[in-house]
Amino acid sequence: MIPALQVLVLSTTYQPLYMVGVQKAITLLYLGKAVSVQDSEREIRSPSIVMRVPQAIRLLAKVVARRALDSLKPTRSAIFKRDKQQCQYCSGKTNLTIDHVVPRSRGGLDTWDNLVTACVRCNNRKGDRTPQEAQMTLLVAPPRTPRAIELAYELWGRLLGW
Ligand SMILES: [Zn+2]
Repeated sequence: MIPALQVLVLSTTYQPLYMVGVQKAITLLYLGKAVSVQDSEREIRSPSIVMRVPQAIRLLAKVVARRALDSLKPTRSAIFKRDKQQCQYCSGKTNLTIDHVVPRSRGGLDTWDNLVTACVRCNNRKGDRTPQEAQMTLLVAPPRTPRAIELAYELWGRLLGW
């Protein structure tokens, strides 16, 4: 049984970064990505292990350096996740694709604020135009760049295969 606690995550240089759930903290410990810097009194028991629940862990690799986060390229699945699996033009939830708000042919980049989830129909209708030209309205404009903690989760997910 894993208690619903939060664990403080410290950077390699002992700066507090954010809190994560116990399960994620323990996964990081087991994978050798972090070490416990302070254990709590609570224990986790399974048939094969007894371990103290950490109160704080320190990352061993600089996996969450802000620069790394800022340069994290959006993937298709990350854009879908941010947009809650919803077309950002019609709210539809089927036949989803990725749309460049400013089309690539017009200099639009593969950035968080230029990529949105769009259904095939809306993507085709929009074509090689901007939303204004196509008279289509984005649900969220401009598309959101994830916060640092979201980027950190995203990065961990990619590193650890979550
Ligand atoms: Zn749509």
